[in-house]
Amino acid sequence: MSILIGPHVSISKGLIGAAKEAVSYDANTFMIYTGAPQNTRRKPIEKLIIDEGHIFMKENNIGDIVVHAPYIINLASCKDDLFDLAKSFLAEEIRRTEAIGANYIVVHPGSFTVKDVDYGINRIAEGLNEVLTDKTKPFVCLETMAGKGSEVGRTFEELQRIIEKIELKDKIGICFDTCHTHDSGYNIIENFDNVIAEFDSIIGKDKLKVFHINGSINKRGARKDRHANIGADHTNNRGLDEIGFEALHYIVHHDICSNKPLILETPWIDKSTNLYKEEIAMLRKPTY
Ligand code: FE
Ligand code: FE
Ligand code: ZN
Repeated sequence: MSILIGPHVSISKGLIGAAKEAVSYDANTFMIYTGAPQNTRRKPIEKLIIDEGHIFMKENNIGDIVVHAPYIINLASCKDDLFDLAKSFLAEEIRRTEAIGANYIVVHPGSFTVKDVDYGINRIAEGLNEVLTDKTKPFVCLETMAGKGSEVGRTFEELQRIIEKIELKDKIGICFDTCHTHDSGYNIIENFDNVIAEFDSIIGKDKLKVFHINGSINKRGARKDRHANIGADHTNNRGLDEIGFEALHYIVHHDICSNKPLILETPWIDKSTNLYKEEIAMLRKPTY
């Protein structure tokens, strides 16, 4: 059992800056957006200080990092211009992920907006089939979604219906988000083992590549998607975590998570508290 855990960090100072930030939290992996999550403006790859970053990462035992695609990529969009942008930008992000040397790019499947879930599933698969080639290196990891608005990927069945339509299925992975699965209705608090068994029977657990470890401000099934700090209670003013430390600690120490990147996307309060360092330390402890 080995725990690979770290937060999402900024790449504004290049890969080397991201790695240094991760080390300051005692992390041994991390996740980055290749630029602002909300837009498509990106620094050229040459400016990301990649080689130096890799040397530093090796020296500090950081590995198996993750890239997250920006939210504006909506492969379920019925608007042709947005669908085309989603495909071309995802293809570029995959190239950046390769250049950075990350094995995974996490993508939100998409939102069907004015259409329906069947339309969304078909459109997402069509888009991915155009983007993926047999040369694609990183796993494109579809994220389990909370089911906010018209998000596709709220259930394991929806994700599997997308995968079924993909030609190059071995290029596809899943990113399991604890906040999202809780918000979409899965009982990861009392029965994470059952949830994983259900995942295995519908999708197959070999598809699980990345985990997002987050608390949730909402009750199970709320379909809201608002992350809480790990085990946050009323006393610390960060908003109550409805999932709770005990369940999140159990998940982090579960066999299914061993050697897979576990990424914190918990709220950042301020630099003085260094919450990521605190959260990583408490989740790493063998017992709670
Ligand atoms: Fe995400
Ligand atoms: Fe997430
Ligand atoms: Zn979320």
